[in-house]
Amino acid sequence: MKYTDTLERSTEYLRMALPLMSKQATALHPVSYAVWYDYVAKRTPELCQAVDGHLARHGQLDEVATETLFRQHVAEINPQAAKQVADGFQRILSGMAVSAAEAGDQTAKYGSSLSRLNDILQADNPQHAAQTPQAVAEILQGTRAMTDAMAGLQRNLENSQREITVLREEVLRARHESLVDSLTGLANRRAFDQQLSICLAGAQISAGHSAPCLVTADIDHFKRVNDTYGHNFGDQVLRAVAQVLKACAGQDSVAARTGGEEFSILLPRAMLPDATIMAEKIRSAVSRSRIRRQGADEALAKVTVSLGVTLYRAGEEVREFLERADRALYASKTGGRDRVTVMAA
Ligand code: GH3
Ligand code: MG
Ligand code: MG
Repeated sequence: MKYTDTLERSTEYLRMALPLMSKQATALHPVSYAVWYDYVAKRTPELCQAVDGHLARHGQLDEVATETLFRQHVAEINPQAAKQVADGFQRILSGMAVSAAEAGDQTAKYGSSLSRLNDILQADNPQHAAQTPQAVAEILQGTRAMTDAMAGLQRNLENSQREITVLREEVLRARHESLVDSLTGLANRRAFDQQLSICLAGAQISAGHSAPCLVTADIDHFKRVNDTYGHNFGDQVLRAVAQVLKACAGQDSVAARTGGEEFSILLPRAMLPDATIMAEKIRSAVSRSRIRRQGADEALAKVTVSLGVTLYRAGEEVREFLERADRALYASKTGGRDRVTVMAA
């Protein structure tokens, strides 16, 4: 989902959403804001009906209801949109705090001018002095009240700004978490798909030049590893294989865990032989490694991976590119595992 509202309109939505959000039994986090933002923007009738229906039945949205509405109607966090919302939030409040501070300065200056005027009138002109001090004193009193009010506003805005900074950090953390595989620390499937489509959209391919290359890897007989040593050890193996991928993948490559025991490395600009060398390095490093069980001394039977390597063909669909890499991987499996198969096109 894209947030394309202007600064003015989104500011208006922010003003409308905050009082509604604060009436709920839900903390003021980005998920809750996303729901209420869409609600006040009347983005979809389904969300508005669902919120109204819930409020009619239960009076308030709690965390679970908010989370459910978010999942059903606002969908997953789109990392870019979340960043835009977070940055927008920050910009709006910074702007408001600055203008309140300026207004406060102005009022204070105005107050001191009046104060000076009062002194002058009292000292130099006894006739005026008889009539004006009362009026001026009243103005002064009003101005002081205004200054106090502005100072209060400024304090409030500063507090809001601090809260927004926390919100922003939460959104950024959620964004990071939504792109990283928590078990291995590699990019996850979503991050990989995003990087792949960005890479292919910008790919300029001509014969004999570098092009996007894809290396896919799948742990051999991993089910046996789990069955023999348990799921926790299986997880340890996944982390170890991920470490090998990280170490072997170049700076420009995107190494991701794209399935349970499946990994992919995207090399945005490479020659097929370079991608093949990388795949072979991974194969041999995994097959040489001996992973120890935590708390046990014995070295284990070796773990191996099968790999497929392919090169992007100009104009082909992403699906064809991925399927060819899968076919190459499958050929490594049927060919005996612990090997690399290259399918150029
Ligand atoms: P092959 O050589 O043909 O790839 O055989 P395999 O046993 O590796 O393949 P299969 O698809 O039969 O089994 C994959 C196993 O991976 C089954 C599943 O339990 C395990 N697995 C998937 N995700 C995880 C995970 O996050 N942790 C652990 N420990 N195991 C996982
Ligand atoms: Mg598999
Ligand atoms: Mg496997």
